[in-house]
Amino acid sequence: MTETALAPAQMQNRGLRDRGSKENQMAEILDGKALAQKMQQELAQQVSELVAQGNRAPGLAVLMVGDNPASAAYVRNKERACEKVGMASYGTHFPTETTQEELMAAIATLNQDERVDGILVQLPLPPHLDSVALLNAIDPDKDADGLHPVNLGRLVRSEPGLRSCTPAGVMRLLAEHNIPLSGKKAVVIGRSILVGKPVALMLLEENATVAIAHSRTVDLPAVAREADLLVAAIGKAEFVTVDMVKPGAVVVDVGINRVETETGSRLVGDVAYDAVKEVASWITPVPGGIGPMTVTMLLYNTVWSYRQRLGLSHTG
Ligand code: NAP
Repeated sequence: MTETALAPAQMQNRGLRDRGSKENQMAEILDGKALAQKMQQELAQQVSELVAQGNRAPGLAVLMVGDNPASAAYVRNKERACEKVGMASYGTHFPTETTQEELMAAIATLNQDERVDGILVQLPLPPHLDSVALLNAIDPDKDADGLHPVNLGRLVRSEPGLRSCTPAGVMRLLAEHNIPLSGKKAVVIGRSILVGKPVALMLLEENATVAIAHSRTVDLPAVAREADLLVAAIGKAEFVTVDMVKPGAVVVDVGINRVETETGSRLVGDVAYDAVKEVASWITPVPGGIGPMTVTMLLYNTVWSYRQRLGLSHTG
């Protein structure tokens, strides 16, 4: 495999055991929360050693515009995670009426700032702003979210580069549990640029035979039932029901949906977890699956870019 931000762990873990054929037992949990904690401890250790050697701390700049409460919570979460691993955080919170030109200027400054290794623009942005133009203005080598066209191009070409965090988190979690991918049939439901398309490319890179299903797919349940590995990235609560899952399949649930309950609300994924866990071999919970991995891969990407900028080789 070509070197990528994910390569060492995946190479280490590839093909050691085959869990995909397990039938008639309850699924084992792909615990993203536990792996995220472990990775954050490793990153913290790495950063503290490099800083003790006289290097500056890695830096992440998060740009947020407006006062969307969900975005504010995500940004706080990212900043707290930065602090935990010893990274400097250069977040800026802009008022809703900030212009495109002001944001472009802020990004240009951060691109030049030697202390900053990662830049991300928290989405969604207020409607008067052109998010694509802003994402494209980020230096691709500081693109902590891995969404810049240059980094997506590197992914398509299997070249080293920053990989988008959620798909990279999916891959890292599968690698950690030695889930075999080579030659397996993978079905990804969802084709967004944020999740569906990049995760499909990453699975292809690991030699899975990949199908991407979406809202125009004919007989989606039949397509899904073919999958040894099913990735749901749809945004519809409990869309994937047990009849759509082949017994023994590995099921990765990327969805995060808030549903109302009698006592308030709770988060559920795109998979009907309680029923599907009875037939799957492995399954990610929501919450505690891909969500914590996404934040961790953002830190991982920033440290990756930091090491690159210091001229150091990469570790796990
Ligand atoms: P998105 O941009 O809205 O894309 C959703 C995809 O699902 C689209 O490709 C759409 O198909 C497909 N889809 C929608 N309804 C469908 C249906 N009835 N049948 C088949 N396909 C259908 O969403 P996203 O950004 O990829 O996010 C997907 C989910 O993941 C959301 O719940 C989001 O909150 C969650 N998410 C979680 C994390 C995390 O950290 N865990 C990160 C990012 C996103 P078309 O293209 O045909 O419309």
